[in-house]
Amino acid sequence: MSETPKEYKFQAEVNQVLSIVINSLYSHREVFLRELISNAADAIDKLSFQSLTNHDLIQDDDELEIKIRADKDSSTITIRDNGLGMTKDDLIENLGTIAHSGSKRFLEALEQQGKGKDSVDLIGQFGVGFYSSFLVADRVEVTSRAAGSDEVWRWSSTADSGFTVEQVESDFPRGTELKLFIADEHKEYLEEARLRHLVQRYSDYVSHPIKLRTTKQVGEDAAEVNWEMINKAGALWKRPKSDIDDEQYNEFYKHLTNDWEAPMARAHFTIEGSQLFTGLVFIPTNPPFDLFDRDQKHGVRLYVKRVFIMDDCESLLPVWLRFVRGIVDSDDLPLNVSREVLQDDKMVRVIKKGVTKKVLDVIEQLASDDADAYQKFWGNYGSVLKEGIHFDSDFRDRLAKLLRFASTKSEYTSLDEYIERMPEDQSEIYYVIGPTQNAVEGSPHIEALKKRGFEVLYMVDPIDEWAVEALASYEDKKFVSAMRADLDLNKEESEDDKKEREVRDEGMKPLVEKIESSLADLVSEVRVSDRLTDSPVCLVVPEGGVHAHIERLLRAQNKSMPVAKRILEINPDHPVIKKLGRMCDVEDEAPKLGEWIFLLYDQACLAEGSPIADPPSFAKRMSKLMGDALA
Ligand code: ADP
Repeated sequence: MSETPKEYKFQAEVNQVLSIVINSLYSHREVFLRELISNAADAIDKLSFQSLTNHDLIQDDDELEIKIRADKDSSTITIRDNGLGMTKDDLIENLGTIAHSGSKRFLEALEQQGKGKDSVDLIGQFGVGFYSSFLVADRVEVTSRAAGSDEVWRWSSTADSGFTVEQVESDFPRGTELKLFIADEHKEYLEEARLRHLVQRYSDYVSHPIKLRTTKQVGEDAAEVNWEMINKAGALWKRPKSDIDDEQYNEFYKHLTNDWEAPMARAHFTIEGSQLFTGLVFIPTNPPFDLFDRDQKHGVRLYVKRVFIMDDCESLLPVWLRFVRGIVDSDDLPLNVSREVLQDDKMVRVIKKGVTKKVLDVIEQLASDDADAYQKFWGNYGSVLKEGIHFDSDFRDRLAKLLRFASTKSEYTSLDEYIERMPEDQSEIYYVIGPTQNAVEGSPHIEALKKRGFEVLYMVDPIDEWAVEALASYEDKKFVSAMRADLDLNKEESEDDKKEREVRDEGMKPLVEKIESSLADLVSEVRVSDRLTDSPVCLVVPEGGVHAHIERLLRAQNKSMPVAKRILEINPDHPVIKKLGRMCDVEDEAPKLGEWIFLLYDQACLAEGSPIADPPSFAKRMSKLMGDALA
């Protein structure tokens, strides 16, 4: 043994993470302690979990705990745990590469968001973990004995490009000890009081005892040494709510998520039905960077009877609540439960429903108590909740109450508020679909509705089409698209009005037929419109079709998607249409009329935000007709 230590190089990405950590976290140096304690606590959790099936791993030796000791003479801080420990290979792999979760995801996110994004903001969403030790230390030694192994190995590094690993002869017990050689300029961390304060501030929630070595002068040269437990230990979620203050809840959240910002809202509950379980869940103030990546790991941490079972347990929450973070602790699930079993377990479904209800309670409360906070929440997570309306009929009604839209009458409205504003002669809820508010505000389809004082909701989120279709109605009021063929604004008209309309439509027949024959390849039907007041034409979606904007989005993903023909509606009161109607009677005008018709069709495409099929021809026609008009 006692061979010379073997030298290793850090993987390139480790150097990158190290330099980001060191360069961007200099004003948050104290995080090192919570990160290292968190690693130690994880190692203890892993040991307890594995020992459920392998009793020999824990040899009834001692209490599972974390011990911290500062030594001013050698300028070191030592953090020791009797958790799972690491083998030689673990040391090389875990501390020399970024194969492990936190830093890897951090680098991926950094890449995705581009270098422009401040890495401090971003790093706050991830565990910087072990490497944070170099925020205060200029050298770090990790000595470890893995559970069930006789060998003790030591990893050592000064963070400049590499590390060494050597075997040490020792009666070192199971677990890991980190020795941080504190840099001269950070000696303040060697103070007992400072360490105590940091543990209480950041790590009070850790469910294992954290003991600090304290010394008390008892004589000239004698000191009394004590291991003093400085955290409350015990699972935070098992304490009564009245014993936990906001700061403790927030620190627990930060510990769990690595987020630096306190959460927007939380729910702490125990449910005693067919399943006994406790939940403590949070809504992050800022959405996770990968919120719209449905395949990313999402979910809450699962415990069974206080024993940590797994992270990111996706089976406990629906995918449309993937932004929720927290823990669920079940008293009834078996300890050896696996991800696969969880997926279609009856008990899990009961828990999932219970947790979902509690989260919805919190969101509803936010909506009723704090409009500003809810608006922020909606901006961050609204699109994700709408997935719930589409996928989850169980919660559709509750989710519908949470919907918010901009409209022709409001910057931000709920459906209840919309209904309150409805004039007496309005019986349906109108909406218009497009890429942006700007685009739908000017949409020809809503002209007549606006004129009659009927409010129109702007649906500019791609998921809206599916959400509103899944809902179909709200409080017995049907959702009707201003862009669909079935919009009927003549429901209440008198017999006289009806007759008058029929006469008017009859007069338009020659023009309708002429347009139908000219545009036979492009539209399925031409008809006289009631939804237009200022524009001459618009395109509407036939029954069963999707809105033009959505069709474009779908086609972007699937080029072979067929183009659905829409219906062209013409405004019989518009001067252009009237003029064209008269042109129908004059044979000589036929070629010109054809040009006008194509131009109108292109205009209808532009007005709904669709590209025109043949821009050069459009431009040519425009110039020609402009020339004729000016001649
Ligand atoms: P993360 O915690 O995000 O995985 P870290 O850089 O903090 O990243 O740690 C890397 C890995 O090293 C951990 O995943 C764990 O496997 C191992 N490790 C760190 N500290 C300890 C410890 N005290 N005991 C056992 N393993 C540890």
